[in-house]
Amino acid sequence: MSDPLKILIMSAEMVPFAKTGGLADVSGALPKALARLGDDVRVVLPRYGRIDPERFSMAEEVQTFPVPMDDLQEPVSILKTDTVPGVPVYFVNNEKYFNREGIYGYPDDGERFILYCRAALEMLRQLNWKPDIIHCNDWHTGIVPNWLKTTYKNDPFFADTASVFTIHNLQYQGLFGWRILEVAGIEEYGFLHHPQIGELADVVDLMARGLNFADVINTVSERYAQEILTPEFGEKLDPLLIDRRERLFGILNGVDYDEINPATDRYIAQNFDGDHLDDREANKLALQRESNLPQDPSVPLVGMVSRLADQKGFDLLAGCFDAMMNCLNIQFVLLGTGDQHYHNVFSQFAQKYPDRVAIYLTFNAALAQKIYAGSDMFLMPSRFEPCGLGQLISLRYGSIPVVRHTGGLADTIQNFDPRTNQGNGFSFERYDQIDLYTALVRAVENYKHSDTWRILQERGMQADYSWSSSARKYEDLYRRALEFRRREAAVTR
Ligand code: ADP
Repeated sequence: MSDPLKILIMSAEMVPFAKTGGLADVSGALPKALARLGDDVRVVLPRYGRIDPERFSMAEEVQTFPVPMDDLQEPVSILKTDTVPGVPVYFVNNEKYFNREGIYGYPDDGERFILYCRAALEMLRQLNWKPDIIHCNDWHTGIVPNWLKTTYKNDPFFADTASVFTIHNLQYQGLFGWRILEVAGIEEYGFLHHPQIGELADVVDLMARGLNFADVINTVSERYAQEILTPEFGEKLDPLLIDRRERLFGILNGVDYDEINPATDRYIAQNFDGDHLDDREANKLALQRESNLPQDPSVPLVGMVSRLADQKGFDLLAGCFDAMMNCLNIQFVLLGTGDQHYHNVFSQFAQKYPDRVAIYLTFNAALAQKIYAGSDMFLMPSRFEPCGLGQLISLRYGSIPVVRHTGGLADTIQNFDPRTNQGNGFSFERYDQIDLYTALVRAVENYKHSDTWRILQERGMQADYSWSSSARKYEDLYRRALEFRRREAAVTR
């Protein structure tokens, strides 16, 4: 057994405190799995106004201290909760930047996340806790590896700390102007330059900074780690990723099997497990009732829980929605929030097919679970998908994924072939309405064979997508990062 590691995880979201998507699920579950392996793992996130200190028994851990920001000092205190088993969670507390209802979407998001990052590093000094690894996630934390190689390069406190940067979604890069370099105190180093990425010469791309400076980089499936090396998926950063491919890895996300469990889920109408699949039907009937759809167990119910973004394939779905409704006898329930355009498009479908389509344009964790438990099929026609958690949750809940064969969806869902009886879902290759439509037709046809369907459900429910094996892979990744860091230090010494 290797020595336990000391790991600080930095993330803008974490279940159960703040969530908009899968990042929160990962930041909630990975630390618990690492703690189970014996590591000393702690998490830090901003204390958004929506996080209620009383609900999570949060107490002040570090009194107000000054954090460098621009030419000034910003007062920050650190709160802490011990409500996550084995994982201390710290919150960067600052009235001006974080006492707001939302997580993102403010004009000063650049300043907000620079402050969060700087406060997190300075917090470590206040706590006198030196992590081996600072594990950064997505653009909000991209400045940290940059600082460790510049501002903090010769700081003895961080001499043995390596950085890991995880890409959850390359599309959101955190783009800002020169001013943000001043806020971060690194204007003397200027813009990044890359011969094949002209844009970097006049924009601060926080994601690119994480990728450029981290000791190792990873993303959340092996397939996506390969895909982002191409112009199609690289979001203009593929040349930089190719330069650093020796340090780029893919580790599939898991699902928190403590929380995501149909046998104990407190939100669903009827608990069930793989040995009691008949009990599942009560969830379908409850979902139909709640959604004002006819309560009929025999009609295939297609569910979706998703951000309403182009990435998720809603243009494709909208394009073949009428054909789906006209030719297939299905019901459709969607829970999602995001682009106004898709709010409008899907609201119109709900009006057009009132007794077959139900749309919830909101974020609702309880309803999400009801859809996983009550749908027969779970649709994810994504244009790209770094990992995707929806398909993993739906497998665990006995809802069969219908997905596009890309990224993490390709790594986890194999198309079902009735001749060989292999596969755990239905998938299609081309990003094309016809292909989505025919995948659904195949699902609906197979649904008619209840024995086959039962086998598919059992197969999905028996599969293990828990965090335990992925957490070990993260430990290996952390050790690699330390190795790179040590080698570099030896060269520069
Ligand atoms: P992404 O991180 O790109 O949004 P993932 O599939 O990795 O996609 O993760 C999405 C997570 O967010 C899942 O846990 C899903 O259930 C949840 N989710 C997405 N939209 C909603 C919503 N409107 N209400 C509740 N949960 C949602």
